[in-house]
Amino acid sequence: MDWQTVVLIIAGFAFVAFLGFLAFLNMAKKAATKAFSGAVDKALDKTSEVISEKVLTPTMSVASEGMQKGLGAVGAAVKQSYEEGLRNDPKRIEIEVTKFAERSYGLVTEASVVAELNLTAYQAKGALKKLERTGVCHSETQDQVTTYVFESFLKRVEIWECGHCGNVLRQEPEENQCPSCGALLERKTIVER
Ligand SMILES: [Zn+2]
Repeated sequence: MDWQTVVLIIAGFAFVAFLGFLAFLNMAKKAATKAFSGAVDKALDKTSEVISEKVLTPTMSVASEGMQKGLGAVGAAVKQSYEEGLRNDPKRIEIEVTKFAERSYGLVTEASVVAELNLTAYQAKGALKKLERTGVCHSETQDQVTTYVFESFLKRVEIWECGHCGNVLRQEPEENQCPSCGALLERKTIVER
């Protein structure tokens, strides 16, 4: 063998070894890629899980809490400005007092108006006196308590009264006869206070 042949043989082996090395590299790269992408997938899953757990959920709850607080503040502001408007507008006070009288079956006092509508005694009295002057209500004083009576809101009930003995039935009887004395009953509507 001359030296050129030896060099060729060595070069051939080196080439084959190089090819083998390339093949190995390729395999290694595939394996590494697979392992790496798996790890990346896992990491991504974990990260998104952590993000939703640690970041998103608290953020959402903070946001919704904030929104609730915001809405609550808006509601409180609206209520406050409504109440302030009510406080400063005699016409509105009269309307609110009248509505309250309706809820109270037509009977209110200065104190009950003050307590219900958050008004001063001066404002309550002013509104009631104005409603009285305009004929919406009238006042009755008994035992130093003045009651303002809104006739149209009074509670009315039906009764069956015996004209003979004065017996009063609150439910419609089967026969229109007094159970006590047998006289005819008279149907009446009375105001219940
Ligand atoms: Zn009777």
